[in-house]
Amino acid sequence: MNFIRKTNLSLSRFTTIKIGGIADVVFFPFDEKGIMEVFEEIRNEKKDFFILGGGSNVVINDSKLPYAVVMVSHLTHHKFHGNELDAEAGLSSSILSELAANNDFGGLEFFYGLPGSVGGAVYMNARAYESEIAELVKEVTVYDIAKNSFLTIPKEECGFEYKKSIFQDNPNYLIFKVRLILRPGMKKAELWKTMNKYKHDRKEKGHYTEPSAGCAFKNNREIGIPTGKLLDEIGMKGYQLGGIKVSEKHANFFVNASGGTFKDYQNLIREIKEKVKLEKNIDLETEVRFLPSGLI
Ligand SMILES: Cc1cc2nc3c(=O)[nH]c(=O)nc-3n(C[C@H](O)[C@H](O)[C@H](O)COP(=O)(O)OP(=O)(O)OC[C@H]3O[C@@H](n4cnc5c(N)ncnc54)[C@H](O)[C@@H]3O)c2cc1C
Repeated sequence: MNFIRKTNLSLSRFTTIKIGGIADVVFFPFDEKGIMEVFEEIRNEKKDFFILGGGSNVVINDSKLPYAVVMVSHLTHHKFHGNELDAEAGLSSSILSELAANNDFGGLEFFYGLPGSVGGAVYMNARAYESEIAELVKEVTVYDIAKNSFLTIPKEECGFEYKKSIFQDNPNYLIFKVRLILRPGMKKAELWKTMNKYKHDRKEKGHYTEPSAGCAFKNNREIGIPTGKLLDEIGMKGYQLGGIKVSEKHANFFVNASGGTFKDYQNLIREIKEKVKLEKNIDLETEVRFLPSGLI
């Protein structure tokens, strides 16, 4: 067996916001064979399932979850091919950034200090400091759950846009690995200088001090004002609903201030969406992903 299977596992500790119920069964595949074996079990048991990466952009339902959860955290191999790098989905974004820099390859500096793993970053098309992962992607290899086979998708067919990819519209794809094209001829020391600057900036912004799931909403690119600024303008900083609070430091981060629940988070999302529509006539789109799926 190329996977670990655990039953009745609480998912809250696998998320950065520390919210999530007890799942019937959680699988940790080690490799391609393990992924196929896991889905064979899921098919045999006729279970609904969802996939979890580093848990840094999700809010998981905190009631009992009659689901199979596939965690990619044990898929952590990487391999350089010249200036191209294959990285499996469970590798932490920060570690990938370190690997690239230590081999004098640039491009992934913005990944340093970004919570979560590579698969989640590709799924979300994670971005920071004027860079996004799509810029470096050459191709993505997925396990097609419906067809029970692996498929390599070239970047042009990944549908990357601002915080968007085709993977968000295709629940049958488990991202297994990604091939990135890195910038050769860079100097390790210079790369680390930039990486440390970015991490310091995140620390200054309080990213690591309170449990959150990152940005609650996407930026509305048509209006050109970051959502955090918009929410600050309408006085949301520090506003609390149940145990979830709008961060005092960054109004687009909702933090788990005291025993916050899935319902608290969703209620806060609804309330703020309505307020922004009413006061600014702007429609906000949610960035965090609710698992198993959608708003309740
Ligand atoms: C403090 C903080 C700061 C953050 N800063 C940023 C930032 O600057 N920029 C930014 O873009 N984001 C930011 N985020 C959000 C988050 O870190 C990124 O989106 C991250 O890339 C998500 O990766 P993950 O592995 O944690 O994904 P998860 O949260 O585990 O999953 C996100 C979605 O991807 C799906 N998924 C995950 N892995 C796979 C896979 N292998 N195959 C198929 N589907 C998969 C999940 O089902 C879920 O729907 C921040 C979050 C926090 C907590």
